[in-house]
Amino acid sequence: MDPELRELYQDLILDHGRQPRNFGPLPGYSHRLEGVNPLCGDKLVLYLKVVDDRIEDISFEGAGCAISMASASLMTERLRGRSVDEAMALFDPVHRLLMTGELRPAANSEPGDENLGKVRMLAGVSAFPSRVKCATLAWHTLRAALSGESKPVSTE
Ligand code: ZN
Repeated sequence: MDPELRELYQDLILDHGRQPRNFGPLPGYSHRLEGVNPLCGDKLVLYLKVVDDRIEDISFEGAGCAISMASASLMTERLRGRSVDEAMALFDPVHRLLMTGELRPAANSEPGDENLGKVRMLAGVSAFPSRVKCATLAWHTLRAALSGESKPVSTE
């Protein structure tokens, strides 16, 4: 990756880590689930307000490293107003991106990773295997919450 671009991404991650968007409990939520990454000590609670299979509102609260908070912040920005199906369909591409750091172009009828929006900024964590779970925590919690799980999610 271009060093200037990498620096820009790092600034944006730090910004989201320090000042997470959509932070705080969500009144009238339909889903609430805790997630924890024991490896790093990241903890979050994800709130979703799903109406007619659409994520009308989404927020989170918690404490953890900058990467975990930035990932949750970017996830909430990406998912507000989206359908539940779309949110669930993003899990695999996001997970693959965070594991490999490779941005995939669109192919056949499959959307490419540009579909992930700013979540792509986290691609650099793939270079730090111990931090990948910090970034995937919010997404694991999301998938479990939308699947109707009520037990806290752990990345371990
Ligand atoms: Zn962490």
